Amino acid sequence: MGWAYGIHKSDRFGEREIGYGVEAECDEPGCTTMIDRGLAYRCGGQDMSNPYGCGDFYCSDHLFVTERRPERCRRCCRYSKRKVAEIQERQARWSAALSARSGAAGDE
Ligand SMILES: [Zn+2]
Ligand SMILES: [Zn+2]
Repeated sequence: MGWAYGIHKSDRFGEREIGYGVEAECDEPGCTTMIDRGLAYRCGGQDMSNPYGCGDFYCSDHLFVTERRPERCRRCCRYSKRKVAEIQERQARWSAALSARSGAAGDE
């Protein structure tokens, strides 16, 4: 087992080749820095089971270390708090819409 080569299913890029043997540009839009798709450049760090990163690959300019979290890309650093709030808000709106609709039963 190793990280020389593999396939990663990315949310943003679909299936693609990964591994430290795969040379590629940084995944940050507009950044052309050459890296390899090894663990050292992976958003989410070297722990494959950690849920905080997207698993895409960034150069050192586009990976950020935050407190108690492994290095992540710009999107994922913002992700946690804002995304959670967004999801909670959507759920609240959704259940409000649902109960409004069931309250107006017979409205056709
Ligand atoms: Zn990320
Ligand atoms: Zn970059």
